[in-house]
Amino acid sequence: MSDEKSLNFLEEIIEKDLADGKYTSIVTRFPPEPNGYLHMGHATSICLNFGLSKKYPGYTNLRFDDTNPVTEDTEYVESIKEDIKWLGFEWKHERYASDYFEELYQYAITLIKKGLAYVDDISSEEMATLKGSPTEPGKDSPFRNRTVEENLELFAQMRNGDFPDGARTLRAKINMSHPNMLMRDPILYRIKHAHHHRTGDKWCIYPMYDFAHGQSDSIENITHSICTLEFVPHRELYDWFIEKLEIYPSHQYEFARRNLSYTVMSKRKLLQLVNDKHVNGWDDPRMPTISGMRRRGFTPASIRKFCETVGIAKRENVVDFSLLEFCLREDLNNTALRAMAVLDPLKLVITNYEDGKTEELTSENGPDEAYGQRSIPFSKELWIEREDFMEEPAKKWFRLAPGAMVRLKSAYIVRCDHFIKDENGQVIELQCTYFPESKSGSDTSGLQTKAVIHWVSAPHAAIAEVRLYDRLFKVENPSSEEGDFKDYINADSLQVVNAFIEPSLKNATLQNRYQFLRKGYFCLDKDSTENKLVFNRTVTLKDAWAKEIKK
Ligand code: ATP
Ligand code: MG
Repeated sequence: MSDEKSLNFLEEIIEKDLADGKYTSIVTRFPPEPNGYLHMGHATSICLNFGLSKKYPGYTNLRFDDTNPVTEDTEYVESIKEDIKWLGFEWKHERYASDYFEELYQYAITLIKKGLAYVDDISSEEMATLKGSPTEPGKDSPFRNRTVEENLELFAQMRNGDFPDGARTLRAKINMSHPNMLMRDPILYRIKHAHHHRTGDKWCIYPMYDFAHGQSDSIENITHSICTLEFVPHRELYDWFIEKLEIYPSHQYEFARRNLSYTVMSKRKLLQLVNDKHVNGWDDPRMPTISGMRRRGFTPASIRKFCETVGIAKRENVVDFSLLEFCLREDLNNTALRAMAVLDPLKLVITNYEDGKTEELTSENGPDEAYGQRSIPFSKELWIEREDFMEEPAKKWFRLAPGAMVRLKSAYIVRCDHFIKDENGQVIELQCTYFPESKSGSDTSGLQTKAVIHWVSAPHAAIAEVRLYDRLFKVENPSSEEGDFKDYINADSLQVVNAFIEPSLKNATLQNRYQFLRKGYFCLDKDSTENKLVFNRTVTLKDAWAKEIKK
């Protein structure tokens, strides 16, 4: 099978590095900040980093970038680990930037001793003023020329807790007129008397992201440090630290953030949706979080396939959510168990079927013979889908209508003779004749029908709550619209119905995925109890949105 894809730009770089003998194996890392649950953007980064070290000799570390004590939490650490494992990847070492606080502190001392860092006393407002602008050079702080001894003394006092929050900072001494604003004496350390989820109260000074990230890469001998495009201007600083500290030369490479249509991809925004109760938690099945998608019924294989199909880019764009659903349908079509459920029921009574009789019919249990057959009870009274009947049939209507015939899946052909309405004019019952010799698998009736519909035997049916989901946002790119992204939330993204399901579904498990014939792919939700089953619709069988566009 020729399934050769052209290399992406990172694979090209790596293949060249390996061919040149620059490395014999590669080391990548996935560096989440534990301040929220992972989303589909992170899945892209995970598939990329772990995928590269799977394809080429080497390994990937999981490193929690936990340098900001205020927003981080162990709950997030646990969920992140669970999500990566669920996606099917294994890290070599589990590391925390906070593991390196002592080393980073020593690095800072090295810079001070080299005359490349100083303690500054000016306020953050003053610092902003002195920073200049992209078109104007900045100005030196009056504290820029402190002696090495004074700087060492003050920095030790900062660590010691002698000063309040914000009183002083440690800054790199680079160049206040540098064309790259990030090189204008960036802050390396700030004072924050805050409890850290791992180091507790040991530290009251914390390194800034730029000072921690590259050095952590270097400590771990990361060969290819992959991040998103907004870090391009940071690369100069990343390289500066490595050069001045004379440490292992990791290299930073950038790719475009992954955006998906009809959703938002930022932990900060997702947190707002959770806090403002627009969704029921981080793992709400409408969320683009990995935990939400898992609960919705997405499979790890479909997410990996999506990431592989889309690949990586050097310029930002929005990828259509339908592509992800396409990958999902492909996977579920090959793996989901088959079952019947009626979501909008209409009673069908077979007038020539014996009262109280039950027949056990069989139907295929999965996509192919290997899944075997399951047994489904058939009786005089059935539930069918309301939309499968039309009182006044349209042209080319092949389903039920007065006088029309249809095949009931894995059962018999029936003909509709009468229908009954309630006082409001709503059809509440169909009365039909069945043809005993038309039984599926042994049909000798000679009757022709053009449609097959699903059904559930009324006396045997179980009732389940079924949650039907739609896009969480009404517009393709909520973050780029005017005003607040929350103004574009789709108020109808969740519809809850009570459905009649075939009795075999009473044994549904959280692990299995189901195709409810003609209605889509579903999975059991964790809200289910012994007395009440709850199913999520993962995705419809066809792309309803594509149809809408074509109409
Ligand atoms: P957010 O803005 O959602 O908090 P982040 O980039 O701050 O995202 P981190 O936890 O710092 O989140 O990210 C961990 C890794 O995942 C980083 O390497 C980051 O570049 C990558 N990543 C985050 N979001 C995306 C995305 N949308 N597309 C691709 N990679 C992403
Ligand atoms: Mg972040």
